[in-house]
Amino acid sequence: MTTGSRASGFEDRQPDWLDADEAVARVLAGASPLGPESVTLTESIGRALAEEVVASATLPPWDNSAMDGYAVRAADLDGADPSSPVELTVVGVVLAGQTDPPVVGPGHAVRIMTGAPVPPGADTVVRVEDTDAELESGQVRIFNDRDRGRHVRSAGQDMMLGESLLEPGHTVTPGSIGVLSAAGREAVLVHRAPSVGVLSTGSELRPVDRYDEVQAGLGIPESNGPMIAAMSRAVGAWPIDLGVADDDSADILQRIDAGAEADVIVTIGGASMGEADLVKRVLDEVGFEQDFWRVKMRPGSPFGFGWLPRDEGRQAIFSLPGNPSSAFVTFEVFVRPFLLKLAGHRQVMRRRVRCIAGEPFRTPAALTYFQRVSLTMDSGVLKANLTGPQGSGLVTGLARADGLAVVRHDVDLVEEGDPIEVILVDAGPAAVEAPMG
Ligand code: AMP
Ligand code: MG
Repeated sequence: MTTGSRASGFEDRQPDWLDADEAVARVLAGASPLGPESVTLTESIGRALAEEVVASATLPPWDNSAMDGYAVRAADLDGADPSSPVELTVVGVVLAGQTDPPVVGPGHAVRIMTGAPVPPGADTVVRVEDTDAELESGQVRIFNDRDRGRHVRSAGQDMMLGESLLEPGHTVTPGSIGVLSAAGREAVLVHRAPSVGVLSTGSELRPVDRYDEVQAGLGIPESNGPMIAAMSRAVGAWPIDLGVADDDSADILQRIDAGAEADVIVTIGGASMGEADLVKRVLDEVGFEQDFWRVKMRPGSPFGFGWLPRDEGRQAIFSLPGNPSSAFVTFEVFVRPFLLKLAGHRQVMRRRVRCIAGEPFRTPAALTYFQRVSLTMDSGVLKANLTGPQGSGLVTGLARADGLAVVRHDVDLVEEGDPIEVILVDAGPAAVEAPMG
């Protein structure tokens, strides 16, 4: 590694120019899951399990009814139809939650509600719609034998005592919270959530409390810091605001020091070749071990990754380029999976879907492009359209991005109607339009 020594002040270290996939692999190779902590089920949403969850009961605990109707013996229904109904004697009733239902003998029926235990002797529940619902007290007439042997949910169908339900690394969803509750859990072990120091750099940047200077043409809005903090929160990490540094080595260094306790530091801006691109030089002064710098991608090629020695080991440092679309894409592609791996998730990559290009995608440079697209459903296929102009300095299109269309370095044109691969970055309501009434 060479460091800048030219009179001009331009960066002169050699870029690595990794392929995007290789760069992702290098980043992920450095991530190991953080330790466990116990949280309540409500707190566990979106976290990764740090334990295997095992069934502590058999469910359902007994054979139970899937219908409101009559528990009977299948043999007693034979031949029942509207013209020759079967008539059975009702010997009792069983509700959900009742534990000692009456026995169903030959010619008997027990009135039963959904979820109630199926009485001994019964192997069938006839839905109430196929009966006269005891027009005459003590007797029920059954008009159909189609339910023979049906509507009994057998004990243990859902889980058996001791059975493994959820693996370590499983991401807790609302559905998983249903499973955990069914397994009798109030609390669960999850991996600790990583903290992320977010440092914006650039003397031209004006945080929102100095927006009047933007309006006066004296600076540009600091939009990346809040965006990157939000992207961190969205994966359950804790952003720590390290503020906005001027393009000044001492200021940058002092703020990086303030983030010493964080699991990860993300710097934004000052990452490329210019005289004011000081981040790497400042990091070098404090022993930065660069893993790589520069990736064959657009936007985001000046991205860099490495480690700072710290008292308790080393701290991951992500250096994001400052253009808003570059910061968005490089966080999405590199930082997000790293944070998810730290947080213990087994699944760290976004879902990719095959879409149809809704317009031509021109990507002439020999770089992997990550184009911001919005998705619509068109005759049963997902169609990807650019969110607008793709200049890396533009911010407005990011709000419309459902996904990143990936166009590899060896492709320079995707025609309208051709298949295109899209990383879903937001599976929210915009991805598929709700049918309107
Ligand atoms: P840099 O990576 O520092 O060369 O910045 C590239 C471009 O992104 C410049 O036009 C910066 O003004 C802009 N930029 C850098 N950081 C931010 C930020 N935090 N928010 C918005 N724009 C930024
Ligand atoms: Mg800058």
